Amino acid sequence: MATPPLTASEVQELVGGLGRLARNLWWSWDQDAQDLFHDLSPRGWQNLYHNPVAVLHEVSAYELRVRMQEPGFAARVRTVLGKFEAYLRHDRTWAAMEAPRMASAPVAYFSAEFAFHETLPIAAGGLGALAGDHAKSASDLGIPFVGVSLFYREGYFQQAINHENWQTEYYTQLNPRNLPVEPVLDSRGEPLVCTVRVAATTVRFHAWRVNVGRVPVYLLDTNRPENEPHLRDLTLRVYGGDSTTRVLQEIVLGVGGVRLLRMLGHQPGTFHMNEGHAAFLTLELIREKLASGLSFDEAARRTTAECLFTTHTPVEAGHDRFSPDLMAYAAHGLASDLGLNHDQLMGLGRVKAEDPHEPFCMTVLALRFSRAANGVSALHGEVSREMWKELYHAPHEEQVPIGHVTNGIHLVGWMKGTVRKFWRGKHRELHPGRTDLDWIADANSREFWASVSDPAVVSDAELWALRYRLRRELIEFTRRRLLLQGHTFSPGDFITFDSFLNPDALTIGFARRFATYKRAPLIFDPFDDVVRLVRDSSRPVQFIFAGKAHPRDDAGKAFIQKVIHLSKYSELKGHLVFIENYDIHVCRMMVSGCDIWLNNPRRPLEASGTSGMKTTPHGCLNLSILDGWWREGYDGSNGFAIGPDSHPADVAEQDRVDSLNLYHALTEQVIPEFFHLDSDGIPRRWVARIRRAMATLAPEYTTWRMVQEYTRKYYLPAAGNS
Ligand SMILES: *Cc1c(COP(=O)(O)O)cnc(C)c1O
Repeated sequence: MATPPLTASEVQELVGGLGRLARNLWWSWDQDAQDLFHDLSPRGWQNLYHNPVAVLHEVSAYELRVRMQEPGFAARVRTVLGKFEAYLRHDRTWAAMEAPRMASAPVAYFSAEFAFHETLPIAAGGLGALAGDHAKSASDLGIPFVGVSLFYREGYFQQAINHENWQTEYYTQLNPRNLPVEPVLDSRGEPLVCTVRVAATTVRFHAWRVNVGRVPVYLLDTNRPENEPHLRDLTLRVYGGDSTTRVLQEIVLGVGGVRLLRMLGHQPGTFHMNEGHAAFLTLELIREKLASGLSFDEAARRTTAECLFTTHTPVEAGHDRFSPDLMAYAAHGLASDLGLNHDQLMGLGRVKAEDPHEPFCMTVLALRFSRAANGVSALHGEVSREMWKELYHAPHEEQVPIGHVTNGIHLVGWMKGTVRKFWRGKHRELHPGRTDLDWIADANSREFWASVSDPAVVSDAELWALRYRLRRELIEFTRRRLLLQGHTFSPGDFITFDSFLNPDALTIGFARRFATYKRAPLIFDPFDDVVRLVRDSSRPVQFIFAGKAHPRDDAGKAFIQKVIHLSKYSELKGHLVFIENYDIHVCRMMVSGCDIWLNNPRRPLEASGTSGMKTTPHGCLNLSILDGWWREGYDGSNGFAIGPDSHPADVAEQDRVDSLNLYHALTEQVIPEFFHLDSDGIPRRWVARIRRAMATLAPEYTTWRMVQEYTRKYYLPAAGNS
């Protein structure tokens, strides 16, 4: 029997619902929602880089109306919209049940970058990914939360490789109309405009709202016609330009962010600074209190009680430091608003307030006005305490009040579609009555990962088949990208294109920012040995690399050049490839398709690292130095370690020893285990290691756990006892 056609208003409702859905990033962690946009325009989905807002612009209103008359499609839209509403309205969240006091003390989370999805490329790397995942989990957990950052209309740079295999950068303009953002409007429906004093002038900004499930993240944008041209471009690029741009950006972020929140009526209980970039917010909080009549000391004391600071790196260059001259130029408005002279302002950002040569350090400012501070792994907590003990006049590291919360990832968000469907399917089999809302909580639970790591639930053969499928998907993706990269090969190579990479080979991935401490080319140090490994046709090994170097980091660019050079001109050709323009999508493809995720930073400089956590639900295993999170996560049977839980003090010696240890782990453990097949063609010990990784790592290294830890340790104590 034919289904009666939908009425015009029913169609309108579904189409309107799709529009709302496209502008809430919740779709990025709900597979059914993503599938809807994909099915509306499969090619559009691919070419528009998985952007629902753009897909909806590509499909005409007429086509949408007609498609809604497909009963199956309309039913799917209705189901997804129902789930979406249920998610937004859900009132028995973790926070509501376990931390009800949070309702009176919302969290304002400031970060210079947020990475949510490849659609909104406004982040440089891991710090942004962490911030985005923090927001998503705050939403899932029902934490009253608001995020603040900047709207970089040229985002982070796009990477191109020139004929000398040198990284070059180019920028493309983001069009807000095609992004999952909404303008923040005042009561008259006009853009809400705030002001901040920077340098000798006043800059105006408006804001964009990103809906991240239940929580908003506001992106400040100085691109307004009233501003002088150079100030319009203040928020053009992530960490754009020189240190002048940078300090001015940070004033807009910190001071402007607080002002915007006040205009929107927010009264946060905690101001959480994700890295020092946002630390000027402390000065705005002090200014507010001075304006209400408090003394500077009292205002500072109360501000300190409101603020929490997370430091993310022991690498020197990761801590913004501004010269006295630059501060005199950029921040004298700030100082005079606070009734401070230049020296007094400088003192707030110095370890030794009186030292006229010491620059102004954003980390010092943040530490000085925070009630608590933390590093992002146990080892990083230790290193940070040592690093900042002078500020606290503490002779010993243990006396420094910096704790740690180990980072995590938004687990469901990082699953590749194939894998999200796989686990959701298993979840349905195990718990037929549980809803999609329950799925998010269950996917973050130890019980779920304990049960699916049982061979009775997922057999070795099924798990191994999933691994094969994911590796194949990665290889086909990589071949497509190599073809687009074009110049990677001489014309003759196109013919042999499909022989690049071997779907049966042990596939080792390395992708992250090409900061030199991460030592991307380390594995190629014993070059002849590595060539022997890739050439062993009975146990083939191959490498996929990706990553961007900071535009001003020539040493990092030289590493990229070296890797690309090896991939084109050495005996590794065909067994080593470099995927250009690393981003969230490339990351997701790689952490799912690789068998081994290689991480060999100079210890202890990888404060936490998060990309290795993204591998676990996909069955890719970590091979890593015992630094950051892996030092805590590794248990001897859930992946592989490079070397012991210690390191030589001398850097050259460390590089030498780590290179030996890496080669040793590879040849003694990784390769033999991967290729040790039983009569069914399954490497049983390898698969057992994958199970162990799933059981021990998947539920632990999540932002679900991390945000709960922040809540218990740091957010709740500020929420009083009401
Ligand atoms: C997760 C992620 C990172 C962080 O990688 P690390 O190896 O932890 O430094 C960087 N960039 C992107 C795009 C990511 O998704």
